[in-house]
Amino acid sequence: MDQTKQEGEYGYDLFPERQARKYKKGSIAESLFTFNHKCQVMLQFAMETSPYAKLLLSAMTSSGCKALRDRHFSCEDCDGTVSGGFDAASSQIVLCQNNIHQQSHMNRVVTHELIHAFDHCRAHVDWFNNLRHLACSEIRAANLSGDCSFSNEVARLNFGLKQHHQECVRGRALRSILAVRKISREEAEKIVNEVFDTCFNDHAPFGRIPHSKKDAKFAYRDYENRDRYYANL
Ligand SMILES: [Zn+2]
Repeated sequence: MDQTKQEGEYGYDLFPERQARKYKKGSIAESLFTFNHKCQVMLQFAMETSPYAKLLLSAMTSSGCKALRDRHFSCEDCDGTVSGGFDAASSQIVLCQNNIHQQSHMNRVVTHELIHAFDHCRAHVDWFNNLRHLACSEIRAANLSGDCSFSNEVARLNFGLKQHHQECVRGRALRSILAVRKISREEAEKIVNEVFDTCFNDHAPFGRIPHSKKDAKFAYRDYENRDRYYANL
């Protein structure tokens, strides 16, 4: 199989370039070490404090796919302005240490990628051959990760657009697909439209669209209580 060709066709947003790079000794290596360290610290903080991340990690453990920080997460340098990706081949979440500088951004990226990891765990997702699967997971990640929440707030305050959240999710899913697959915009739009309603309304494991951290906290509490309820049966 022609691996190079495959990589060329599939792009690197969801699966960023992951070749080991060699760094020169000295200040550049030191600053990269600092980036890496900072990334690890922010990742740890996200896993321990973000209700979105905590719920997803808990749900993955329940589904038999416990995500471990050292095994399933990797802080790396990425090309361009990519923030992160999910590498299905190794079941690893890549966090782009050169592009994530704030904790709130880290929380969103970890959540977004954990939704892909959750989908990968629960359903047999065919990321490469089935564009509907990819589109569905991108719709869910944009809808449930808070990617669209901030702009949603702004839109509500400034313009009162009720459909803004849906349009934001649609647009983000479309951009994610176009970044990793060489297909036309029309083709991508058609696929997103075909699966949009089903996937937009699939809120697992949150049970609702968490529009804010507060929503996510309630969702996490409900999720944990549900576990407790079943445990007591
Ligand atoms: Zn994505």
